[in-house]
Amino acid sequence: MASALSEKLSRLVKEMRGQARITESNVQDMLREVRMALLEADVALPVVRDFIARVKDKALGQEVVGSLNPGQAMVGIVNRELVATMGQGVSDLDLAVQPPAVILMAGLQGAGKTTTTAKLAKHLIDKRKKKVLTVSGDVYRPAAIEQLRTVTGQAGGEWFPSSPDQQPLDIARNALDHARRHHFDVLIVDTAGRLAVDEAMMREIRELHAAVKPVETLFVVDAMQGQDAVNTAKAFKEALPLTGIVLTKMDGDSRGGAALSVRQITGAPIKFAGVSEKIDGLEVFDAERHAGRILG
Ligand code: GDP
Repeated sequence: MASALSEKLSRLVKEMRGQARITESNVQDMLREVRMALLEADVALPVVRDFIARVKDKALGQEVVGSLNPGQAMVGIVNRELVATMGQGVSDLDLAVQPPAVILMAGLQGAGKTTTTAKLAKHLIDKRKKKVLTVSGDVYRPAAIEQLRTVTGQAGGEWFPSSPDQQPLDIARNALDHARRHHFDVLIVDTAGRLAVDEAMMREIRELHAAVKPVETLFVVDAMQGQDAVNTAKAFKEALPLTGIVLTKMDGDSRGGAALSVRQITGAPIKFAGVSEKIDGLEVFDAERHAGRILG
């Protein structure tokens, strides 16, 4: 961000020095700075409005108006609200079902679904000692099926073959059947993504969801999309009962606004962050650290 919010607020507070006390109109000025900072971080406008309304309620209480250091008090409120919003319900993957637990990956093409499928496989194999099978339902792009094969191998998981002449539903059912018979703990189903949301794609993934009954339905979204991520998130939320979000390409995004937007729009917890192209470039999402990034 061009200039950190905390810096801007302390500058503002310095200008207010000499006044007997902080007034409601001073609080409004500070809120304007907070709003600018969120927009600079590329948070979507409706999300900014909601967020500011919540912060305003808190700031108009004693906390800022009666404070000796109102700038710091405001930064504190914003920080706590960011952490509370983005960190709500954060948890590892839920696998508490009769195995195989199915994880369904959803998102646009290029969001990082295939890469994240392999990263999750590695996470589950290394950290949770699970036996993991992956399968690709992307029958439109043979290269995507091969890509999943390669990265699953790097993760130390097993890959279930599929081919472009098959129906995605049949592929998923066959993979699930294989996972059951060979006692896999987890089956991760990678799906086709389009460059933009379309009805055929949404119908297909809804059918897949109904067929494999996933315990986790993860929405994979590119953090660099910033506020544009909101429309995609809305469409996927309407189509599927999302259980979590994976924000990818966080390493290329210095602004950080997508996390707040997507969390608020979908209501689903952000479970993981993709931080590099490499197979181990996946971290459990840390709301506190991310709030620091947005605040600057
Ligand atoms: P899909 O079409 O949704 O399956 O997307 P892919 O998994 O093929 O990823 C698209 C591109 O994004 C590839 O070049 C990946 O290497 C890259 N990618 C995925 N996740 C990350 C990430 O967290 N960081 C970076 N830098 N690149 C990523």
